[in-house]
Amino acid sequence: MTLLARSISALCVLGGVAAAERTVTVAPAKVHPGDPVLVTVTGTSDAPRGKAGGAELQFFPAKAGFQAVLAVPLNVNEDHILVEFTAGPKPLSIPIVVKTFPETNVTVEEDYADPPKADRVTIDADNTAIGASYAKARGAPQFAHGFHRPPGAVTSTFGEWRTFNDGHRAQHLGLDFAAREGSPVAAIDDGIVALVRDTFLAGTVVVIAHGGGISSLYFHLSKASVAEGDKIVQGSKIGLAGHTGRTTGPHVHLSIHVPGGMVDPASFIKLPIYPTVKLAAHTSGHRLPNRVLSAQR
Ligand SMILES: [Zn+2]
Repeated sequence: MTLLARSISALCVLGGVAAAERTVTVAPAKVHPGDPVLVTVTGTSDAPRGKAGGAELQFFPAKAGFQAVLAVPLNVNEDHILVEFTAGPKPLSIPIVVKTFPETNVTVEEDYADPPKADRVTIDADNTAIGASYAKARGAPQFAHGFHRPPGAVTSTFGEWRTFNDGHRAQHLGLDFAAREGSPVAAIDDGIVALVRDTFLAGTVVVIAHGGGISSLYFHLSKASVAEGDKIVQGSKIGLAGHTGRTTGPHVHLSIHVPGGMVDPASFIKLPIYPTVKLAAHTSGHRLPNRVLSAQR
């Protein structure tokens, strides 16, 4: 964790000076599968356009120049990711360092370990709905400050391989935090509620679109207290923690989706993102007490 934090805070200029003073920086300089990457372009008044690993980069105005966040896909099978620009800066190649994710065995009810056909249809529909909600994160950032880590101890990390009931294997696409059943769950930053849905595996889900292609997802809620289209501010209550869906007990599961795929929320929260654009946000709930937000940040 210390190494990762250090590599993120150490901005590294990898090159690509096409126009006079145009510079491209990426953070962190070295990445693993499932890591987020922040690309910053300065020395231009026009939003750059480009792609990385097949995903379109969604640049937004930042304190200095323009920034975009992208994912190094978890299933990437190359040793680098190429950031390409439509015009201007030369392509950048960011080395990808191999990472071995932990393995665990999880025992759940049989229907969750090996869902019957009818439930697999539901799972497919859930995945389609969640995937479609990411489009609502396009456009200007809805947030002006850094993302808050949810309170509670981390009980399961991103990318962990889980074998369910000695059969089906799946990779954990989020970060789990200990939480009591019924405790309030807060938005990690300002945004618009993109999806509220009762799903088979993830239970009651809330997806918040933050703009810039960034979405945060909250799983296994016992109750959602927001509706699609609600504008919410950082720290406002979006629901209550629970254990709906495929879980072994109450907790808060947080996932972060950016262009290119799901990324490790622990790494994402540390990215030096400084958007300058903010739309008017109206809260639909109550901001939680600061002590809840600042606990174990
Ligand atoms: Zn989880």
